[in-house]
Amino acid sequence: MLQKRKEAYQFIIEGQVQGVGFRPSVVRIAKELNLTGFVRNIVSGVEIQVQGIEKNINQFEKLLLKKKPKLSKINKISKIKLKTSLKFIDFQILQSSSEINNSVFSNLIPPDVKICDDCLKEFSSPKSRFFNYFLTSCTNCGARFSLINLLPYDRKNSAMSKFQLCKNCKNDFDNLENKRFHHQLISCPDCTPKLRLLLQDKLYSKTDVFQKIGELLNNKKIGAVKGIGGFNLICDATSDEVVLRLRKIKNRYKKPFAVMFPNIQTVKKILKTSEFDEKILNSQEAPIVILELKNLKQQFLSKFVAPDLNRIGAILSYSAHHLLIFKYFAKPIIFTSANLSGEPLIDNFEELKSKFNELDFILDFDRDIFNSVDDSLVLPLNSSEKLILRLGRGFAPKVLKYPNNSKNRDKKILAVGGHQKNSIALFYQDTIILSQFIGDLENYSTFQRFEKTISNFKKLFNFEPEIILSDKHPKYLSTQWAESINLPIFQIQHHLAHIYSVVVEHNLTNNNFIGFAFDGTGFGEDKTIWGGEIFDKNKRIYYFKTFQLLGGEKAVKEPKRVAIAILFEYFSFDEVVKIVKDKQIPFSKKEFELLYKIWQKNISVKTSSVGRLFDAIASLSGICHIQNYEGEAGTLTEIFYNPEIKDNFNFKIDKNGKIEILFDFFDKDLISRFINTIAEIIFQIAKKHKKTVILSGGVFQNKTLLNLILEKLKQENIKTYFNSEIPINDGGLAVGQIGYFLNNF
Ligand SMILES: [Zn+2]
Ligand SMILES: [Zn+2]
Repeated sequence: MLQKRKEAYQFIIEGQVQGVGFRPSVVRIAKELNLTGFVRNIVSGVEIQVQGIEKNINQFEKLLLKKKPKLSKINKISKIKLKTSLKFIDFQILQSSSEINNSVFSNLIPPDVKICDDCLKEFSSPKSRFFNYFLTSCTNCGARFSLINLLPYDRKNSAMSKFQLCKNCKNDFDNLENKRFHHQLISCPDCTPKLRLLLQDKLYSKTDVFQKIGELLNNKKIGAVKGIGGFNLICDATSDEVVLRLRKIKNRYKKPFAVMFPNIQTVKKILKTSEFDEKILNSQEAPIVILELKNLKQQFLSKFVAPDLNRIGAILSYSAHHLLIFKYFAKPIIFTSANLSGEPLIDNFEELKSKFNELDFILDFDRDIFNSVDDSLVLPLNSSEKLILRLGRGFAPKVLKYPNNSKNRDKKILAVGGHQKNSIALFYQDTIILSQFIGDLENYSTFQRFEKTISNFKKLFNFEPEIILSDKHPKYLSTQWAESINLPIFQIQHHLAHIYSVVVEHNLTNNNFIGFAFDGTGFGEDKTIWGGEIFDKNKRIYYFKTFQLLGGEKAVKEPKRVAIAILFEYFSFDEVVKIVKDKQIPFSKKEFELLYKIWQKNISVKTSSVGRLFDAIASLSGICHIQNYEGEAGTLTEIFYNPEIKDNFNFKIDKNGKIEILFDFFDKDLISRFINTIAEIIFQIAKKHKKTVILSGGVFQNKTLLNLILEKLKQENIKTYFNSEIPINDGGLAVGQIGYFLNNF
């Protein structure tokens, strides 16, 4: 019989192809098709060389796409015919090559993923060697990004490098048929990172630590547990006494805590959930999902979990060790990042111990966290749309494809974002990578986390920036950091960055849009504080009437200051005194008179911020005079919104585009009419200009307002875009800075 001619080819696969079981799947396909050769990780992705008959190699190429593992993403396949034949008698996985080449972003890193169903079965089966194993994972699931130090994604470059494989794991790792074939992070009870439970200064390291934790939680104890991307503080979420004590320990008096539920049934018992909500809760990203309480007077969870609010951030377990805790404590637990107020998530034992000496216990294991990641936070809007308020575990690092013809597309760009809810982003050619949530940079340790994230990203993605983008605010630490780097820097206006973050996310190529950027604070072109700006492409065409921010930053924390600043615009001193008294806005006589003097001098910075207007309305309605946490006033207004009220306040727009709302401050439905007014203003302007509408900025985290606007615009068939896959708040700014730069420079 005539032997068919054998050909040899090289394939280079780029994308998310390391740490996801890609090489094992290549071996399986090659063996099925009787091909010889090898596959190996290289810095830019995966290299394959195959030899066999042409027909089978073509089939091989097709199957690579069709049978790729769940977590993998292929961005590019290049195929070259090799002149010499290969000297392999079968198909092998070869040692990775760490030769650095110049391709940027050819190799992408998968986010951390929740434990998969197959692993869950093994975890629950007494016959499996993974029975009750706290770090059960496989090629399809488990930690990834948080444990990678360097590419290629091999065990030696991961936090698992210091743990030797046991005999069984070695067999699984080498066995093509096994679901852990070449699972770089494999471990089992015989070769596991060591658990240790610190309790009253004594260390326990037995495997029954989870039973002990169950007992501790039952006895009202509060502790920290190491997770995937950092430590979480946990305690019984049903006990007032315990939750109050946690608030004291965390120095956090009102800001809501997330709750981890033992199962979806318990979630459904007290929270309203749609099919869409359940899908998000059960997704492989497993974020915290903000859901409404069925009954405001529920007595199942402690009322101190989310004081004064009608919603709870709910999360389901995403790792085997959470399941082990629930095995011995079947009630909902508080599940909050271990950090002191304003500081970044703690990711190591020593720091945790030094900062939280009041904790009753700490559960740690000796696997390092290379990239710390907070839990993600998702707000479902309706039955099909959502906002990602915090981009963290499961979503980060976020890869966005942005095809463009910018003359700067071959430049490596680093965007450093804003100041609050900071995150950074990298760009090259048509790819943007957005980092995880870093935090508010006013805190020094958060700023250190910002610097560390930049250096980690440079290393991980083999990325040396050539251009830096920052905000225009001279006082933002991110701006100052950018200025200290010896590279060309471009400063992008805050609200235009918001608008262009939507342009990038939705790949909008048509420039015919009108952008509404409403938020709390951003540095304006005229050096006032903007926050209620409307752009026709890049030109600001409308803005809200400005008012004084009495005491600058202090006014941001104290809505009552914003309230009287607005009242002074319309009423005499004596009238304001009377209104403040009637509405019981808490001012001492001295404070009030001082603020009036400051107002009279007219030296305070002015703002057009819609976020601040929300604050003023909250104070004038008696629901929030001083904010306990950022965004509190805005969130509270949603609770008092009455959907029965359909009308709004009148407003006028002058020839310069200045919008003035004609408030009735004595209206008992001030909140509802105010929210209706903001929606109506957007609607009227959108209708007049007949262009695509873009919405971005923190104000649109107000679900009531956003849904109202979306409904109105839909009725008029006006195309509307907003951020959904990246944060609509300042967490999306870095992406917008890149978008603005590519479109305008
Ligand atoms: Zn798995
Ligand atoms: Zn093992």
